[in-house]
Amino acid sequence: MKSHKYDLVVIGAGSGGYAAARTARELGASVALVDPGPLGGLCILRGCMPSKTLLATSDRAQDVREAKALGIATDAPRVDLPFVMARKREVIGGFTDYRVEALRSFPLYEGAARFLDGGHIAVGEETTLEGKAFVVCTGSIVAPAPILGLDEVGFIDSDAALELETLPKSLLVLGGGYVACELGQFFARLGVETTIAIRGKQLLSGEDDDVGESLTRYFRDEGIPVETGVQFSNFVRSGANKVLHAVQAGVARTFEAEEVFHALGRVPNVGGLDLEKAGVRYHPITGIEIGPDIRTSTPNIFAVGDVTGEYPLVHVAIHQGEIAARNAILGTSERADYRLWRTHTIFTDPQVAVVGETEKSLKRAGAQYLVGSYLFSEHGKAISIDRTKGFVKILASPSDGKILGAAIVGPEASDLIHEMIVAMYFGATVEDIVRIPHLHPTLAEILTYPAEDIIAQRTVGAPSGVAAAS
Ligand SMILES: Cc1cc2nc3c(=O)[nH]c(=O)nc-3n(C[C@H](O)[C@H](O)[C@H](O)COP(=O)(O)OP(=O)(O)OC[C@H]3O[C@@H](n4cnc5c(N)ncnc54)[C@H](O)[C@@H]3O)c2cc1C
Repeated sequence: MKSHKYDLVVIGAGSGGYAAARTARELGASVALVDPGPLGGLCILRGCMPSKTLLATSDRAQDVREAKALGIATDAPRVDLPFVMARKREVIGGFTDYRVEALRSFPLYEGAARFLDGGHIAVGEETTLEGKAFVVCTGSIVAPAPILGLDEVGFIDSDAALELETLPKSLLVLGGGYVACELGQFFARLGVETTIAIRGKQLLSGEDDDVGESLTRYFRDEGIPVETGVQFSNFVRSGANKVLHAVQAGVARTFEAEEVFHALGRVPNVGGLDLEKAGVRYHPITGIEIGPDIRTSTPNIFAVGDVTGEYPLVHVAIHQGEIAARNAILGTSERADYRLWRTHTIFTDPQVAVVGETEKSLKRAGAQYLVGSYLFSEHGKAISIDRTKGFVKILASPSDGKILGAAIVGPEASDLIHEMIVAMYFGATVEDIVRIPHLHPTLAEILTYPAEDIIAQRTVGAPSGVAAAS
């Protein structure tokens, strides 16, 4: 058996692992990466990048459908799926080659790692690696099918959805999270009769009610039925179709489609790591426990990204990976910036983007806040470019006007939110937002209106029906 020694051994070479390895090497440490492949990580191979590449097609097809509103006569768009998939493969191939080249600049052990103790891992049967420190970033896997009969009738998950070469006539999407919403809308816009069935009362149930409610309404307006309050019972086959038996509002219902898309979530990938041997505490559903300095219950072992369960987002994996590497190599206890961890975006149309606190989280914490909001349908630039769906909302502290959080449902929300991210990073107030110049006419200037609204509330006291201070 071959044995090698490193300052840092990174287990899993996805977004979090690459960030940790790169950061540790920049600090002069010896670093090894371990990954059984396929190399590239979820984001590039089966997550963010392929999904957004596909959404570019469905969004553009929708632009063509809506072009009439701007005086352009068009035929209904016809989407060439094999072309779309070939384009996606080419785009993703380029990203993958670039990343794999970067990964191969490290000592790279291509096998699955398992802990032998707190200072050693085995890679396959032939190699052991000794590390002064370890970063575990083995990502997540699709959660096991949670409904009776679903395995038997068969289903697609997000991996398969991103690879479809022919479209089903109809699709039943299970789940109302971001993957369900993005890909559900993609298939609907490609002409698949798509129904979304969820247990909760609206899409994106983790978001504030106004955010989830508005997306649910826009989906329904677009002709995508969103069936809420559905208690899933079991699946059976009926000819070429798959049938879900369920109960909705106390009434027995069936939902039938040619294909079922299981988008009910992912779970941390902890299987086979033998974390017990290293004394690392974890739970199979919530993942590896970490503190604010990204350390696990074993201080020389860190865990980052999806395997920690909480915020399965690329920027979080990268943020945690960089901090883990610095703490591992420098022996420090740098903490992640919790205020900004919740930042996320959903690439539906309209897009959704959220930073910092939400009304839900502030209410849970019993915190006081002021809220200002503004509709895109009342904003000049949005009206002039015919992009009027959605709203912006800012939450601020009543005592000093500091921005606590913001949510945007609307055009380019994933880009517009960056003004709020930067503002929060620097501890800006709503007064700062109004003082900072905003170009006119732009979508971005819409953020000055809720800021003005909150300033007025702080000056004269909250007008009734506008401030939701709790
Ligand atoms: C359809 C979809 C769309 C998404 N869109 C977005 C988006 O728009 N924006 C966003 O921020 N996030 C998005 N995500 C989530 C994002 O992709 C993940 O949060 C992120 O990629 C996780 O990175 P990671 O480093 O934790 O894990 P991964 O990138 O999954 O890396 C884990 C690595 O560990 C390796 N591994 C597994 N077991 C072992 C072992 N025993 N030993 C060694 N190595 C091992 C794997 O081979 C893999 O390379 C999306 C996810 C999906 C599924």
